[in-house]
Amino acid sequence: MTFSGGRRALLRHGVSATAGAFAGAAAVKAVDAIQANGPLPFYEGPAASIHADRRTPPKHAQVDTVWSVDTERKLVALTFDDGPMPNWTPKVLESLKRQGIPATFFVVGRNLAANKDIFRGYEGQHELANHTWEHKDLARQDLAEATDAIERAHDEITKVTGKAPTLLRPPYGHLAGSTMLTAAEFGYTVVLWSRQMLESDYRDDPPGLVEYISAATAPGDIILAHDTGPADRLVAIGNLDAMISGLKNRGFEFVTVTDLLAARHT
Ligand SMILES: [Zn+2]
Repeated sequence: MTFSGGRRALLRHGVSATAGAFAGAAAVKAVDAIQANGPLPFYEGPAASIHADRRTPPKHAQVDTVWSVDTERKLVALTFDDGPMPNWTPKVLESLKRQGIPATFFVVGRNLAANKDIFRGYEGQHELANHTWEHKDLARQDLAEATDAIERAHDEITKVTGKAPTLLRPPYGHLAGSTMLTAAEFGYTVVLWSRQMLESDYRDDPPGLVEYISAATAPGDIILAHDTGPADRLVAIGNLDAMISGLKNRGFEFVTVTDLLAARHT
C-alpha cells in the first residue's frame, strides 16, 4: 500500500469514528471522505448540486437531460464520442459525406486541441459538442474539477468552431450533482443516448449489428457510437454506410442532436 493509500484509509477510519468532524479534514478532498453508507458532504464533493455558499443559484434555471426525443417523425441523431483522433474520425467523416448526413461529435477537448484539422472542410455539416477535457469520470469530481473539465473543452470547441457548444455528454453517462450544477452555469443540455452500437455483442457478426441498428432504431433515438477506442468498435465504424442505408430505407432522416431537440413533440 502506498503512503497516500494508507493515509486515506486512516482518514476514512477517523471519519467513521468521529462522524465526519475530524481534525485536518480540510486537507482531504471531500471525495476521499465518502464512505459506503455514510452521509455525503452537503455542499462540497461530487454529489452537491447547490453552491457551497448556499446563496448563489446557477445562471440558468434548469438543465434538460435527454436520452431521446419524443417525436412521431422518423428522425434520428447519430453521435460519435471520444475523438477526434486520426485513426477513425476521418473514416467516419467520409461515410457521413458519402451518405450526405450530419452527425454530432461529442469531442474530448484535448483530442480536439491536438487534431483540430480533422474537421476542416466539414464546417457547417456537423455539430461539435462537449465530452469534457480529458474524459475523466465526472461522478467522482467536485464542482471545481467538473467546472475545469467542462470549461476547458467548452473553450476549445468555441475556439475551433467559433461557436459555443450547448450540449454536454458526461463520460460513461455518469452524472453527479456537480455535473448538473456546472451544466446549469453554462446553460448546457445534458445528452445521453437511447441506443448504442453493441460492438462487443457483434464483434464477429457485422451483418448482425447492421440488422440490429437498422431494425431497432425508433423515431427520436439518439445513437451512441465512438470515433476512436478499442479495435472491436471497428465493427460499427466499418459498417456505418450499411446501417445508415438501412435506416434511410426505413424512411429515417438523420439530424444533429440540436435539430432533433428542436423537433420535440412534433
Ligand atoms: Zn466517452
